[in-house]
Amino acid sequence: MTETADVVVVGAGIMGASTAYHLARLGAGRVTVLERDTVCAGSTALASGGIRHQYANRLGVELTTHSIVTYERFAEEFGVDPNFRQHGYLILVTTEDELAMARKNVALQRSLGVKVELLDAAAVKKLCPYLRTDDLLGGTYSPRDGYADPYLCCTAIAARARDLGVTIRQQHEVVRFVRHGDRVSGVVTAAGTVEAGAVVIATGAWSGVVGTLAGVEIPVAPRRRHKFITASFPADTIPMATPFIIAPHAGSSLRREGDGILLGIGRQGEGPSFSTEIDRSLETPVVERAVHRAPALADARLMRGWAGLYEMTPDQTGIVSRVPGAEALYVIAGFSGHGFMHGPIAGQLMAELITKGRGVTMDARPLDLGRFARGEAHVEPLTFV
Ligand SMILES: Cc1cc2nc3c(=O)[nH]c(=O)nc-3n(C[C@H](O)[C@H](O)[C@H](O)COP(=O)(O)OP(=O)(O)OC[C@H]3O[C@@H](n4cnc5c(N)ncnc54)[C@H](O)[C@@H]3O)c2cc1C
Repeated sequence: MTETADVVVVGAGIMGASTAYHLARLGAGRVTVLERDTVCAGSTALASGGIRHQYANRLGVELTTHSIVTYERFAEEFGVDPNFRQHGYLILVTTEDELAMARKNVALQRSLGVKVELLDAAAVKKLCPYLRTDDLLGGTYSPRDGYADPYLCCTAIAARARDLGVTIRQQHEVVRFVRHGDRVSGVVTAAGTVEAGAVVIATGAWSGVVGTLAGVEIPVAPRRRHKFITASFPADTIPMATPFIIAPHAGSSLRREGDGILLGIGRQGEGPSFSTEIDRSLETPVVERAVHRAPALADARLMRGWAGLYEMTPDQTGIVSRVPGAEALYVIAGFSGHGFMHGPIAGQLMAELITKGRGVTMDARPLDLGRFARGEAHVEPLTFV
């Protein structure tokens, strides 16, 4: 069976849903989303929902500046409360090198209009009295930041896209691309072919693999990332309004999730892999690091954990781009652990690129796929893997 669409979007995570929604808003014609599993079945559902302005490169700050407004007015636009808790982001500073970088980052963020402060250790203690601060030089704090519910947000955006006429087919895995010479003209699933004027790869950590199906190279690699959550923990010790706290030096993070505390742990040395098996050997270090930073957590009980996939690019920055050498093929992927927060603007830029030929809301050129071949990529150091 052959169907036709003006645009086919492959993947229904935050990137695919947001692209489809903005395509519909911009009147891009018949838009079909093909998802191998169900809406929001990939990394988006497993994310911590963090939304922050604190980046070392201008691009990351600007992407958040454009996206955060969507999360702030989400209920108005999508009819669903995204549970956006704007309790701020606190990135701890432990070493002189980190302090020098924090000074630079704060100056850049402020120059771009972000409300952010460099706190000394005493001010960190005042903000979060439950933290151990005697081994800190301080922290950077951005009060407008916080975290929302990624599953609620992604499914609400997809639902709104559907309301606007987008067709979403779940359990439709794209297994092949139709190419005529340099032009991509459709995709194939077990149900048949969908011919399309444009095809968008929005398959998160799987985008490198999906790219090879289309005969193109998309430098996105999967990287396992763990989260653990504690059982109910008293709010008089660690308040509900606690910021999302990142300790880059220790590779750990902490924030409230309902009654419990959500703990993150990074592993610098881990190579690319599609495994989402929980590595139980992380339970001890995650607890040790959390108790070191917030000693009251010695009384907490670890309840469960999960692992999901970051979608890493070589410069830890996303791609929103035409695919060179494959006409009518586009990619929106590789946000390297920042895709939930940047999904709203990224989808908008992707839709603008398709319908207007360029990013209009902001300059999309720094997200171009060709930057890697041109040697123009700049690593975003504030990426917590
Ligand atoms: C533990 C963890 C914590 C995170 N925390 C944060 C955070 O605090 N803030 C933040 O901004 N980001 C965070 N992230 C990153 C964020 O989850 C991702 O950047 C974002 O979800 C990527 O969205 P996506 O739509 O590109 O990918 P996904 O959500 O993975 O969606 C891709 C979709 O493509 C589908 N697909 C794959 N192959 C095919 C195919 N052949 N045919 C059809 N469909 C296909 C998949 O089934 C999937 O549904 C976190 C990630 C993890 C794992």
